[in-house]
Amino acid sequence: VAAYIVNLKDESSEGLRLIVTLHDLTESRRMQQMRVDFVANASHELRTPLAILIGALETLMGPARNDLEAHKRFFSMMQAQSLRMSQLIDDLLSLSHIEINEHSRPSDRVDLGKVLQGVNSLIKAKSTDMGKTIAVQMPTDEVFVTGDFDQLTQVFTNLVDNALKYSFEKSEIRVEVEIGAREARVSVIDEGEGIPEEHLSRLTERFYRVDSDRSRKLGGTGLGLAIVKHIVSRHRGHLEIDSVVGKGSTFSVRLPSSGA
Ligand code: ADP
Repeated sequence: VAAYIVNLKDESSEGLRLIVTLHDLTESRRMQQMRVDFVANASHELRTPLAILIGALETLMGPARNDLEAHKRFFSMMQAQSLRMSQLIDDLLSLSHIEINEHSRPSDRVDLGKVLQGVNSLIKAKSTDMGKTIAVQMPTDEVFVTGDFDQLTQVFTNLVDNALKYSFEKSEIRVEVEIGAREARVSVIDEGEGIPEEHLSRLTERFYRVDSDRSRKLGGTGLGLAIVKHIVSRHRGHLEIDSVVGKGSTFSVRLPSSGA
């Protein structure tokens, strides 16, 4: 917004003052466009599994009515698509919940070690199923940050989950914690396909994916990093992404230490 004072003189030579304010609409138009795109993308993401569910039901009620072998296949397909919709709705709700509270900074004293232990046990079964290992490296001293335990758990669950999804078979995912004078830094490091540089700046946009088909096949909603970004910014922290194609990626979160 810019404001100008314009002095006008008329014949009576009495001064007339006019205040002109100019509003730059570019930002608000951009926000509006983002909202429209978001609703369109979310509807599209929900419509795809729904269409598969409807198709499967029609087949089960029609041509495959008495085909017990087909029943098995269709039921498991319907289960997978229902889970996909449910995950998407959970992520959409998380995102809107975080956005509502975005401007209030969480203030609990949170033990980062406990958060990471929790993430590790939440995700251990999945990593074992995938034939991968997770190694968490904590400093010997306890590390406290100011924040919200559940939201920080969500941040590192999403990052470790991505590391599992996009890393090489049988590889190890490392979670490293460093403590600085005023902040703690947690890095989630994978050995995997990496991310081409031109995508890095857009990864935290909602529904942005490097390879949509691959992400969907792996159970991704395209919202994980958008959720991470919002939570980290609510904590007055920073997310940094480094990646080398063919080698792997490091997602680091810097958080102000408790008391900073
Ligand atoms: P998704 O549900 O698709 O994983 P995210 O928002 O979590 O959505 O991530 C967005 C995209 O960023 C992913 O689709 C993937 O292309 C890329 N990505 C995220 N994490 C990694 C990683 N550790 N290695 C390689 N690519 C990644």
